[in-house]
Formats: sequence, structure tokens, C-alpha cells
Amino acid sequence: MHIELRNLTKIFPSRNKKSGEEVIAVNDFSFTIPDGQLIGLLGPSGCGKSTTLYMISGLQKPSGGQIFFGDEDVTEVAPEDRGIGLVFQNYALYPHLTVKQNILFPLQNLRGKDKMTKEAMIERAYQVAKLVQIDELMDRKPSELSGGQQQRVAIARALAKMPRVLLLDEPLSNLDARLRLQTREEIRRIQKETGITTVFVTHDQEEAMSISDMIVVMKLGVLQQIGKPQEVYNDPANLFVAKFLGTPPINIFKGTVRGGKLFIGESAVLDVPGVADQDVHVGIRPEGFVLDANGPLTCQLSNVEVMGRDVSIVCSSEASENPIIRAIIDADDRLAISGNTVAFSLKPHKVFLFGAQDEKRIRPSEVK
Ligand code: ATP
Repeated sequence: MHIELRNLTKIFPSRNKKSGEEVIAVNDFSFTIPDGQLIGLLGPSGCGKSTTLYMISGLQKPSGGQIFFGDEDVTEVAPEDRGIGLVFQNYALYPHLTVKQNILFPLQNLRGKDKMTKEAMIERAYQVAKLVQIDELMDRKPSELSGGQQQRVAIARALAKMPRVLLLDEPLSNLDARLRLQTREEIRRIQKETGITTVFVTHDQEEAMSISDMIVVMKLGVLQQIGKPQEVYNDPANLFVAKFLGTPPINIFKGTVRGGKLFIGESAVLDVPGVADQDVHVGIRPEGFVLDANGPLTCQLSNVEVMGRDVSIVCSSEASENPIIRAIIDADDRLAISGNTVAFSLKPHKVFLFGAQDEKRIRPSEVK
């Protein structure tokens, strides 16, 4: 079932009556989540991700706009009647109940036509426990489980009612690095197996990029870009999105366009046909540099870090907007490095121009 958010807005009134400043947590957000997909809602702290999720769940009421589950307008529907499963960062398991009792809990509260027999409930509990691979742990208490296992119990509990929509709010934040990796793959597997339309909130771009069918990047309550993770990475709409995605992060330089050529410092580094003369921010992905003794972009070498297959060249330049530039090159090419400076040519499709003021993407008419 698809989910449609139509002009969704959430305004929190000011706590301080005198200053009267309200917070626009989500601002005119419109977006359709296709049926059966996993969407990563991504952005820095305070950008309105959780508020969007809570409006989808019904825990928070929008100040404006509508939410549709399929063709049904659920904007005014109570959370318990929306058919959602919600998983939080802190698992929120009942500590005095066993794993089995935790999973059974939402089923025991079903009323009316949804009411289940005891046998059906137990069968369902084991079915979802098997899906998240905790069926061996059913008689343990949450305190007797690892963080990853606890989060799986929370996911099983959310799945027990066979929700139409699964909503995950930073579900991996409390796990250590190894468990995070493992659990995020688990979530992807479970989502694929069940085919439930899922929204996954995170501030971790790598996490969102690795498991989402589509990512939605937000900043200060405003939607910045939607797309497949790799498409957004390869084609950012503005400087914020370009900076937010990618590890190591994109390198930003001060640049100028003159006569269809892009200058960094005094060197023409690329042809940018069709772009008017102006100052720009130039984003260069770390993998966009090519070591080239005759290359137009010269930087001061600080350090060379070898990381397995890749080599990371750490350098600096007066034209860089950041103190450090990081270029990733092939390990075999490192032998060409000598002296205190490095020269690069650039891969045109890894170089992005952004307006000096509005920071929006500027596209050359044709990249050579
Ligand atoms: P984080 O990653 O830190 O959880 P987030 O992107 O999920 O951040 P939200 O929790 O949605 O952000 O908050 C968005 C904005 O709304 C923030 O500026 C926050 O301070 C504000 N906000 C959230 N809840 C309330 C509330 N109940 N009252 C007032 N302001 C709120």
C-alpha cells in the first residue's frame, strides 16, 4: 500500500509566550511512498524527521495537510486504527515480560473483529519471532538479551499485528558498530520478505544509503531531494545535499566561471559550457580526483593514508573552503606521489557547481 503525504506541515507553538517564536518542524512536505518500498528519511538533528514519522503514525497531529494510506485519508484516524507498527530507538520493551509476552501484548489488546484466539496469537508470535530469528529466546526477559536481540523483539512486536506500514525511528542508534551493520541488513531482509511499506528515520547517511530503496533528504523541515540513494549521491540538487551524503565527504572549493571555463584559483580546471560567468561553490567527490603530474589543480600534500585497496591523499589548498581536502585514488597510483605538492585532473561527472548565494546546483549544458 502506498502512502501519500500532501502538503504536510507541523508548527509547534512557542514555549516562550513573550518571544512568540513558533517552530516550523515540517514545512509543506509532499511526497508519495510507493507500495512495498523502504524509504530512508534522512537529515541532521532537528530537521523534522521524527515529527514527519509521528504524523504518519498519528501520534502527532499535523497543523496542515493530509496523509493517505492507499486511497484512504487517515489524517484524522487514531494511531491504533491506522494499522501501523512503530519501532523506537530505545526498543521500549516491557522489562517484566518475557520476549513471548512482549510480542503477544499488542495482540491481546485487539478488540472487536480483530480479536484473536489464544492459539492464533501464539502461532502469530512464533511466526514473527522466527522471521526476526529470536524464536529460540521466547522465554527470556529483555535484560537477558543483547541490544541487537532486544531491537529484534521490538521489530517482532511491531510486526505481530501485521501492520500496513512499518515506521522505524532511529532503530539502530543504540547498537554498537558491528551490530548496527548486522541489524540493518536484518531489517532490509525482513522488509523485503514481508513487503510492508516502511519508513526508516536516521541521521546517518551511510545507513540510509545502504538499505533504502529511496532516500528523502530534509533540512529545517523542508524537503531537499528525493531519489534512489546512488542517484542522489551522483546528482545532488544543492550544496546541502552534496555535503550531507558521502564518506569521506565531498570537498568544496571556491571557484569562478569565466568564458565557459571553471577556474579554481588561477587554473582552469574544467570546461563548463553554457554556464554564465559567476562565482560558484565547486564540489569534488573524493573519487573525482586523478593524480596527474600535468593536472591543473595543485594542492599542498599533508599526508597519504593507505586503507586497503584505496589510498587517501590528504592535502590542502587556499581555494578550498575546508581546511582539509581528501582525494581517494587507486593504491597502484600512489607511487607517482613525491614532493610537497600533488597535481590533479578531475573527473567531470564527479564535479558539481553550486550558486555562490543560493547554493543550488548549476548544470553545464554538456559535460565533456
Ligand atoms: P533528531 O534527529 O534530533 O531526533 P529530528 O530531525 O527527528 O531530529 P524533530 O524531532 O522532528 O527532528 O524536530 C524538528 C524540530 O521541531 C526541532 O527544531 C525540534 O526542536 C522541534 N520540536 C520537536 N518536537 C517539539 C515539541 N513537542 N515542541 C516544540 N518543538 C518541537
